Amino acid sequence: MTDKQAPVPDRYSAFYWENAAQGRLTVQACEECGHVQFPPNAVCETCQSQSLTAKPVSGRGTLYAMTVVRQAFHPAWNDSLPYVIAQVQLDDAPGIRLQTNIVEADIADLKAGDPLEAVYEQRGDITLPQFRPVQKNGT
Ligand SMILES: [Zn+2]
Repeated sequence: MTDKQAPVPDRYSAFYWENAAQGRLTVQACEECGHVQFPPNAVCETCQSQSLTAKPVSGRGTLYAMTVVRQAFHPAWNDSLPYVIAQVQLDDAPGIRLQTNIVEADIADLKAGDPLEAVYEQRGDITLPQFRPVQKNGT
């Protein structure tokens, strides 16, 4: 059995993974001009300030684009086929789209515009935010 690979945090993305481990989705915000950005960067993409902080977001998003993977390119994914790679537009961080997986979904029913919510998968030492369709009756 081969484990799925997990992202490796670096000095700029560490806040994202630390918050994910607590069940919080975050983006990077500039303390000088208020710009929000993702993926994390060393400086603000608007004003080049290095005063950046983690900004929690709701975890609600909208399916922007997706593709269905039907052939595993690594043996660790054989049992997950088919699976969805998607771009999710965060509802409270306009312009930011996360590249992620859609889980707990009937793939045939997914379409652009669907409301989604973050869920968290433990993968080794990393807690990986992913998204699922918004549940109609709470959780
Ligand atoms: Zn800025």
